[in-house]
Amino acid sequence: MKAPPFAYLRPAELSQALDLINIYGTDARLLAGGQSLLSALNMRLAAPSVLIDINGLTELTGITLQQDRLVIGALTRHAEIERSPLIAQHVPLLALAMPHVAHPAVRNRGTIGGSLAFADPAAELPACCVALDAVMIISGRSGERRVRARDFFHGLYETALQPGEILVAVEFAIARPGERCAFRELARRQGDYAMVGAVALSIVDGGVLHDVHLAFFGVGDRPVLAAYAAAQLEEGIATAERIAAAQQALVRDFSAQGDVYCSGAMRMHLARVLLGRVIHDLTRTDAGGVQA
Ligand code: FAD
Repeated sequence: MKAPPFAYLRPAELSQALDLINIYGTDARLLAGGQSLLSALNMRLAAPSVLIDINGLTELTGITLQQDRLVIGALTRHAEIERSPLIAQHVPLLALAMPHVAHPAVRNRGTIGGSLAFADPAAELPACCVALDAVMIISGRSGERRVRARDFFHGLYETALQPGEILVAVEFAIARPGERCAFRELARRQGDYAMVGAVALSIVDGGVLHDVHLAFFGVGDRPVLAAYAAAQLEEGIATAERIAAAQQALVRDFSAQGDVYCSGAMRMHLARVLLGRVIHDLTRTDAGGVQA
């Protein structure tokens, strides 16, 4: 199918884009990489009368180190994040996750802002942002506001973005000494959205885990921070008993939903398996978990 007709506007500055999105309101959609939006138009799942192409907004591009924070502009392409030495050094979890996001052709166009604003519950980046406690920087006509990733995802394709707002950047704390991270997902084919995915982050000191963060994706209508499971692993060595306790505790964090590919019970089982694998990766000394 082909997209329904739409007017096409290409502002050159953020202020113009904000004016346009406020003039056209819900009749308009922002166009970033177009990798999700154009499919939705072609399948007639969306029919905005105006597309506001934000690709000319250079202030939304790039990766910058600002003291102990790394700021990624919303228009930064997945491929740039995948290859960035700054990301590899300071937010290595994103470098681990990025090869799992779709295929190279999609990663060449798709943007971090588009992925987060689209909020597919099986997408990799939202879960990474939740685990990393990233902060979304959002602009509207009344100014800028900041929303923690943990408060940003409200449900299936729903976020804290209000009509007339644009996600301009995402801010991450840089990795601390001794911090390690791990990423695993199970997908039906390489490049597909995950059936289930898990990310883990912790300071590892002499095998002891401190400040453990676990997040899961593909298990419900949004990425989930698994605080009960993580608590089972805090301040101890990741023994088989502790990992089993964390796997058992997962049911207190979420109840996985089923779909045509996988029942809820199967997803819960896979989430437990992935939990074991990411913790094993974190504590491996050779490879797997990435140390900052
Ligand atoms: P667009 O498609 O341009 O926009 C998506 C939505 O976000 C639109 O509603 C748009 O209005 C809104 N939007 C965009 N930018 C902003 C902004 N700055 N502020 C506010 N709203 C904004 N993704 C994964 O995570 N994992 C996968 O495995 C995966 N597989 C894919 C496989 C295929 C074949 C394809 C085509 C896509 C796949 N994707 C996957 C999606 C891909 O990551 C997209 O890049 C991403 O979901 C959307 O980014 P985009 O820049 O293309 O946004």
